[in-house]
Amino acid sequence: MTASGCIALLIGVLLVGAGVGFVSGRAAGRRARNRPAELTVADLVQRVVHSAHNGVAVINRFGAVVVHNPRSVELGFVRDNRPDLRAEKAAEQAIATGEPVEVDLTPLDNRVGRQPAAVLAEVRPLGDGFAVVDAADQSEAVRLEATRRDFVANVSHELKTPVGALALLAEAVLDAVDDPVEVRRFSGKILREATRLGTLVTELIALSRLTGAEALPELEVLEVDDVVDEALGRSRLAAESAGIEITVDRQSGLLVDGDRTLLVTALTNLIDNAVSYSEPGSPVSLSRRFADGTVEIAVTDRGTGIAPEHQERVFERFYRADPARSRATGGTGLGLAIVKHVAANHGGEVRLWSKPGTGSTFTLRIPAHRVAEVAPSVAAPEDPAPLAVVESGGVS
Ligand code: ADP
Repeated sequence: MTASGCIALLIGVLLVGAGVGFVSGRAAGRRARNRPAELTVADLVQRVVHSAHNGVAVINRFGAVVVHNPRSVELGFVRDNRPDLRAEKAAEQAIATGEPVEVDLTPLDNRVGRQPAAVLAEVRPLGDGFAVVDAADQSEAVRLEATRRDFVANVSHELKTPVGALALLAEAVLDAVDDPVEVRRFSGKILREATRLGTLVTELIALSRLTGAEALPELEVLEVDDVVDEALGRSRLAAESAGIEITVDRQSGLLVDGDRTLLVTALTNLIDNAVSYSEPGSPVSLSRRFADGTVEIAVTDRGTGIAPEHQERVFERFYRADPARSRATGGTGLGLAIVKHVAANHGGEVRLWSKPGTGSTFTLRIPAHRVAEVAPSVAAPEDPAPLAVVESGGVS
């Protein structure tokens, strides 16, 4: 039996079986306090209703609320001991037909502080002229559904754009079949769009894996320096062709528990962005350090910077502070969303400092690997586990 079914049954017991036509919460409470040994079913039912996560209210055939819990007031369908009109009508119908009725009880005004965005209820007949309204806050589900809808709409748009461009460019090639210069020009564009489409699909798959479709694989102990070297290797070509030199600090010897591929992908995204959003010839630097049990890898550029109003939002999927520039650099708008999820899946986070015209620093923060305690004689239980480094000089 479901929790709400159980509540309905108990209320039935309360109203009919226990012979208590109307329960006064105060009276039941007084009885319970004075004579705990004589706790009645009605007392217990009162407590069950009171502590229920859902909003519960029993309405009689005259539309009066005879029992309700605090949650029903929080959800806004009982006010001053009166039911919301929609709940009252649904109760009337349930009592008349003997069938449960589903009703939307989302608050219609903003009178009482913060209101839930969606409240859905089932109103069930209890017999003898009573019905129970059993309502749940569905705000989170509604918000998730809206996010999902937005995401699907965005993905469709983002996929359709390069596909449409490819079709047009292919037509242009066919039209210019006798002009080798034009054919070369359009072919170059086709290649760029196809690459962009490939990146988009790869990043979408990465993102869907990260957001719960697949569990994060077993984490392994990783040398941060290896992760940094691999990410730098991947970004080297783009940096070289933009005439950007990446300055890197010395090897750190730090260790983290992580998924190598994901961490390399996240760091590569940060370095690629630093290169993409900087003018040719401007410097980019990468540094790593240990702080408060966390390994920090910072990527700093002297590029365009990000205005304060965009700084929170650049980590959202498909959000671009400068859509034209992102398009020009072949950006998908997913890079930072991936970084954010990778950091979160490792128990870490990504921080941003940025100033338009000055540049940006993105810092990937991942908990440092802790060496398991070996024996009580070696490390007292209350001692924090030592942090592992390959060479102790690396910890700053
Ligand atoms: P994109 O593929 O568009 O680069 P991202 O998710 O990587 O998508 O970044 C989101 C947006 O954040 C970018 O469109 C850009 O406006 C901004 N951004 C990211 N990194 C930087 C940076 N280093 N400097 C300036 N702006 C940046």
